[in-house]
Amino acid sequence: MHHDVIVLGAGLAGLAAARDLAAGGTDVLVLEARDRVGGRVEQIRTPDGRTVQLGGEVVGRGHTAYLRLAGELGLKLIPSYVDEPGVITRATPEGHSAGDPPHWFGPGDAAEHARLGAEFSALAATVDPDDPWSHPRATSLDRLSVADWLRSRQATPAVVRLWDIGQLALAGGSYERISLLAALRKSAAVPGSGGGDYDYEDWEGLRLADGSATLAEVMGRELAGRVRLGSPVTGVDIRPGRCRVRLVTGEVLTASAVVSALPVGPLREVSVTGVGEARLASLHRQRQALAAKFAAVYDTPFWRAAGRNGLSEAEGVLGSTWPQSEGVLSALIPPERYGVLLGTPPALRTAELLGEVAAMFGDAARRPLSCHLRLWGTDPWTRGYVTQWPPGEVMAVGPLHGTHEPPFYVCGSDQWVAGYMEGAVRTGRAAAEEALRRG
Ligand SMILES: Cc1cc2nc3c(=O)[nH]c(=O)nc-3n(C[C@H](O)[C@H](O)[C@H](O)COP(=O)(O)OP(=O)(O)OC[C@H]3O[C@@H](n4cnc5c(N)ncnc54)[C@H](O)[C@@H]3O)c2cc1C
Repeated sequence: MHHDVIVLGAGLAGLAAARDLAAGGTDVLVLEARDRVGGRVEQIRTPDGRTVQLGGEVVGRGHTAYLRLAGELGLKLIPSYVDEPGVITRATPEGHSAGDPPHWFGPGDAAEHARLGAEFSALAATVDPDDPWSHPRATSLDRLSVADWLRSRQATPAVVRLWDIGQLALAGGSYERISLLAALRKSAAVPGSGGGDYDYEDWEGLRLADGSATLAEVMGRELAGRVRLGSPVTGVDIRPGRCRVRLVTGEVLTASAVVSALPVGPLREVSVTGVGEARLASLHRQRQALAAKFAAVYDTPFWRAAGRNGLSEAEGVLGSTWPQSEGVLSALIPPERYGVLLGTPPALRTAELLGEVAAMFGDAARRPLSCHLRLWGTDPWTRGYVTQWPPGEVMAVGPLHGTHEPPFYVCGSDQWVAGYMEGAVRTGRAAAEEALRRG
């Protein structure tokens, strides 16, 4: 069966691309390995009707492509956990603190933290997120880790620790192993009003009222008949006018163009021929941070009684917690702790994670109605969580990042500066636009 375009993967990127291609009059088919659409956005519903987000969850006011698509689909956005009353909790092996400053800060640390945030923002303003390679100091900025840059700017160990615990909370990999250029690029892509390396309002201040998976579900319904579930792709051969796509069953489909919307991990397992060596090397160089998500459903948001907002940054197996909706707590296990989690017998994992939550918010944390642990880092169709850029990687992946080699187009959150649902939607729609432009 021949199609105009075959899209690989029915995550937000693949669906957004296919939707625009179909709207442009293209005969498009989406091939998806799983038995559902949405990829890294996934939600379930509790018996009392609350949704529980197991993957991508929140967006921010700087996520313009996502907000526009949600608007087109008629989906309502509401404030996320940033509206929750109370103060943040920070937990380290030696203690806990509520609110600012964190318990390990001494005199002068808060002022140093503010100074370095301003320096970081000023430096980020010199980076073009679409072309970080053209920065006059691109190579040296990429070689440096964020933590090394902080130290080179005379940051105290206490300040480096605050930046790193915030990064552990995002589960994108410790700042000891993240390229400064990549972090500056990410910040420049969504220039914040809050300053510093990450503004929560700009990146995380909103969520879809019916849950983030509704974006994928609605697009999946619009594309009914054009999405084949349970169809893992194993090979792609790109030829002008007649590309061949091989499924795990051995079946071969043909198309005039192929849009890959696969995460970089699974893409490395797909044989791709007919595409330039430099492009493949660039695509295969990219990596993701491995993370897991934990969600605990409670009858009430019990953390409020202690004046806490459920938000935490932690140095345990859990890197963070935040309330995803009334009484539902989300948590991330960062890459540095993923091995510890895997090394914990499955039957003990939930109790141990709840123990960490209880140490921060009290014993009520040990009595959830239900718990859900999603090991995205070792999921065969994700093999990660979010794009990760260790020192040197921005230059190694190079300016081919996020570009196309028609009739082979690439999209997906990994093809944007920093992953995220915004990256998926933005690159998916851009790939469709480019394919339509080229006919
Ligand atoms: C735990 C977690 C929390 C997150 N939190 C947030 C958040 O709060 N805010 C935010 O903006 N982002 C968040 N993200 C990131 C965001 O969810 C992703 O960046 C985004 O959803 C990725 O979309 P995508 O379409 O690029 O890739 P994916 O959603 O991964 O879609 C790729 C699709 O390709 C399919 N596939 C893989 N291999 C094959 C194959 N061989 N053949 C056919 N199909 C294949 C997969 O099954 C999948 O459906 C989070 C991610 C995770 C895992």
